Amino acid sequence: MDPYGRVAPPAGWSVADLHCHTDCSDGVVTSGEILEIAKSRGIRVIAITDHDMVHGALSAQPLGAARGPRVVVGQEVTTRWQHHIVGLFLNRPVPLFRTVPDTVRAIREQGGLAVIAHPALGLPSSASIKTMTEWLEETTFDGIELDSPYISPRSRDRLLDFYDANSSRLGAAIGGTDAHFGDVGKVVTLFEGETPEDLRSAIETRRTAVARTGLEYPKPGWRVHLKNQRRSLLRLPLYRLKIMLTGNYSKSRD
Ligand SMILES: [Zn+2]
Ligand SMILES: [Zn+2]
Repeated sequence: MDPYGRVAPPAGWSVADLHCHTDCSDGVVTSGEILEIAKSRGIRVIAITDHDMVHGALSAQPLGAARGPRVVVGQEVTTRWQHHIVGLFLNRPVPLFRTVPDTVRAIREQGGLAVIAHPALGLPSSASIKTMTEWLEETTFDGIELDSPYISPRSRDRLLDFYDANSSRLGAAIGGTDAHFGDVGKVVTLFEGETPEDLRSAIETRRTAVARTGLEYPKPGWRVHLKNQRRSLLRLPLYRLKIMLTGNYSKSRD
């Protein structure tokens, strides 16, 4: 970190946070606010990865192009057994509730990259090493999140061992905060260059690095948590139900 509270990468490299939520899904800040915070923290590229939708990320892209940081359109896709897969470099929504190999295929069909989200956390949405081993029999990935503000040191060690043994099928090392409160940049991906195109080629050639930055944010108050929980436990399930019934991925708002 530099004296101004920004993440300072090695010369010629840039910082990306590849897992962030806005108030379009269960985040509590707007995409404009996230971009502003990210810029002040020295982040050059940010992936907006709202749950099961891309419209927030799509609408943030021109703002990012004009003022920075540049925006990668992403989606955190809910798969058939509730595990989360992040699609990056998307241009339309990825269908929900498919098997993981089918989800990876759907992401790649539109030119996207498929990343395993927050593994080894011991939550229903987070794949265990056993589950990922089964996935690898059927598919490969373009990347895997190797760190998270929520992972225990022991689980992270086991995850890194698993990655070392299977990196050719797991893809690039990815870091993303999974920020819901505008707390971007805690866990980041470092890459050579500065644009989304540079980032993409770094992921494709597996020349990325994951870093914990030590950035700190004030703890969100209970009202903010309540807002997040209401969106996560009420609004998103209703939105998913609507998609199941209508096939329509249009906006979800309070
Ligand atoms: Zn998730
Ligand atoms: Zn997430």
